[in-house]
Amino acid sequence: MERVDTIVIGAGVVGLACARALALSGREVIVLESESTIGTGTSSRNSEVIHAGIYYAPGSLKARLCVAGRRLRPERLAPLAARLTPSPRV
Ligand SMILES: Cc1cc2nc3c(=O)[nH]c(=O)nc-3n(C[C@H](O)[C@H](O)[C@H](O)COP(=O)(O)OP(=O)(O)OC[C@H]3O[C@@H](n4cnc5c(N)ncnc54)[C@H](O)[C@@H]3O)c2cc1C
Repeated sequence: MERVDTIVIGAGVVGLACARALALSGREVIVLESESTIGTGTSSRNSEVIHAGIYYAPGSLKARLCVAGRRLRPERLAPLAARLTPSPRV
């Protein structure tokens, strides 16, 4: 029987982020997706807003993750920047 370190089920933004982090930590990862390609679920149908965290209780996990995620945005998007079209919402 073939073996793999980790299987991630679902290739939405959460599954792909988990798979990326696991792969960068040196694990072998397989992502299983039931649709024909990645990101065809909720992740491709949302409002595309980078949340600032102001709607959540100060200091709550949601608020802290929003702020941390927003700060990571330039670093994470830099490699893709040439392919992105600026949006008036950002
Ligand atoms: C209307 C709406 C607007 C939103 N707006 C925003 C926003 O502006 N900003 C923001 O940050 N968030 C927003 N969100 C939330 C955000 O889109 C979701 O939290 C996020 O996309 C969830 O990602 P996910 O990877 O968990 O799920 P999904 O993107 O749904 O991915 C799950 C994947 O798993 C696959 N799958 C399911 N079951 C199986 C199985 N048994 N085997 C294999 N594959 C399977 C599915 O096909 C899918 O591809 C919004 C959500 C909604 C509904």
